[in-house]
Amino acid sequence: MAGETSRIIGSIILLGAPGAGKGTQAKRISARYGIPQISTGDLLRENVRQGTELGKMAGSIMARGELVPDDLVYGLVSERLRLADCQRGYILDGFPRTPAQAGWLDALLEDKFFDSSEREVWRPFVVRIEVDYNELLLRLTGRRTCPTCGTIYNVHLQPPRKNGFCDKDGSQLVVRADDSDEVIAERLNAYDVQTRPVAGYYERTGRLFTVDGNRPVDEVSREIFSAIERHARVDALGVKDA
Ligand code: AMP
Repeated sequence: MAGETSRIIGSIILLGAPGAGKGTQAKRISARYGIPQISTGDLLRENVRQGTELGKMAGSIMARGELVPDDLVYGLVSERLRLADCQRGYILDGFPRTPAQAGWLDALLEDKFFDSSEREVWRPFVVRIEVDYNELLLRLTGRRTCPTCGTIYNVHLQPPRKNGFCDKDGSQLVVRADDSDEVIAERLNAYDVQTRPVAGYYERTGRLFTVDGNRPVDEVSREIFSAIERHARVDALGVKDA
């Protein structure tokens, strides 16, 4: 990024139902500002794939579409946030998912920055992506992911050029294990009951921005970028064009 690589962007949180486009938008924010996407779902799936102790505990819970216990997720998140690539900021995608997790994150940041002049900058800026229920269903049932580069396609809405294969690297696309009809219903239910109240938690801080995610992905990105830049006054960053 031209010039200001030392500029701090801070904590960005993406809130939204499964299928709202958090992963897609997180990748775009990451590319624009040069900060990492931290997806607790991806971290958990990686543990399941590698057969770690944590993966063994989380796997069956994830397969049912339920939330895994907080303690398991806290360990993953605090470890990930300590890595050097988070020094200027990060995008949390899929965390926090309950008001308790939001409180835990506040306590973690408070502890880390309590006597620092950077404290304000690191207080989370929260982007909530809202999408209608029927659109979410269409997106989740059609979702295909590239296991190599992580690009997300949709057989109904955004198909790859060659059916079943990634445009970028030719890998065979996969369906996520929890994108089956019953598990989708359970994940949407978990969102309604457990995650929706997280917005209320942040609304009180005045740092919640809501975007209509039913629109084309580029329009949604543009709105998110301008909200982040308005908020963090990073317009002097010399960021790349959308
Ligand atoms: P995602 O990729 O964000 O849709 O997450 C996939 C699954 O991982 C969820 O259905 C949960 O089982 C689990 N998961 C991801 N993030 C969290 C979290 N913050 N708290 C609890 N469970 C989570």
